Amino acid sequence: MRWTGSLFLVALISGPVTAAVPQVKVLIGRSLKDVVVHGTDLRQTIPAKKLYREFHGRQTVNFNCRVGARVTLPNKPLLIASVTSPTGLVGWEEKRFRGELQLVAGPQAAQEGCDLVNLIPMDAYISSLLAKEMRADLPLEALKAQAVVARSYALSKMHPTPGGGPWHLESSEKNQVSGHFHDTTARTDQAARETEGMVLTDSAKRPVEGFFHSKCGGHTLRPDQVWSGSVDGYRGVECPFCHKHGKKKWNDSVSREKFSALLSRTLKRYQDKSVTLKPDALTFVGDTPSQSELRFYHGNDLHVIRKSWLRNLAGREVFPSHHFRVSDTGRNLRIIGDGFGHGVGMCQLGALELAKRGYSYQAILQHYFPDLKVSRIW
Ligand SMILES: [Zn+2]
Repeated sequence: MRWTGSLFLVALISGPVTAAVPQVKVLIGRSLKDVVVHGTDLRQTIPAKKLYREFHGRQTVNFNCRVGARVTLPNKPLLIASVTSPTGLVGWEEKRFRGELQLVAGPQAAQEGCDLVNLIPMDAYISSLLAKEMRADLPLEALKAQAVVARSYALSKMHPTPGGGPWHLESSEKNQVSGHFHDTTARTDQAARETEGMVLTDSAKRPVEGFFHSKCGGHTLRPDQVWSGSVDGYRGVECPFCHKHGKKKWNDSVSREKFSALLSRTLKRYQDKSVTLKPDALTFVGDTPSQSELRFYHGNDLHVIRKSWLRNLAGREVFPSHHFRVSDTGRNLRIIGDGFGHGVGMCQLGALELAKRGYSYQAILQHYFPDLKVSRIW
């Protein structure tokens, strides 16, 4: 689907998936005051002025997005300009992007300059993402498995949500970190090409949102064990594959006082219980790293909380994953954990190990998503 000149960019991302390759809009720069785009034989379109210009040879095009330099329409995303090149690459800063660069002003950027969006064919986006989210020198089947999951995630973000902006995804940890043209390699292109149009689907062949994380630590989790909503077709699975790879287990000591304060905050925030926990009255029971819930007694009262709540409140530095247990060692408690990331969906380092053992990307995905299928939808 190509941009056709409408100011209402949000409206363009709707509609059923067709046989055409979707174009994904990736936010690559936010609240920029000055934007300098460069490339060869650039073609610039400014829809508000119905202006189309070509710049022959290697050129730079400057955009001033400072307040007062432009007119904005309040409450509507406004496409200020788009730039393409017949070479297929457009530069910004030291990076080169496939597809089109779009300068967008909208409610979020009205006072603070422009946002920069890369409109890029989905499979080119997947190649640039593989180079950032996984090492490009990984086994090809692991890259292909990652390509399918990342494409499934990106596709799920292409359906507009109320209040959504003129892009589908941010290139950040909030969504998925994608690179630019020079980050891609022949192998990342190959992995994207050989899985072109393939996504995770349910039994009715409907696309399902794909999740992945760095290292599960031994067992993956369902979305509803970590976030509020559930996603049909997900199941937690054993992963005895990632422990040899990546960062080692983590192990932290925390005082009873500090940990009981964190537990009190968690009970208040997530269960609306106002309890001031006494550090010496806490007893932890039957905890193993693969349990997604933490059980503890405060005196005679049993409390059950999600480990993901502790991670949300205390941060990723304190709890790098949800795969941990609390060991009661007296004055202090020990947090003993393994893995990195939210633990939902495909474990990247587990996929690496399975690929090394000769698993195909389909077999890798079958392991992490036993209730889902891989279907080609474009
Ligand atoms: Zn794992």
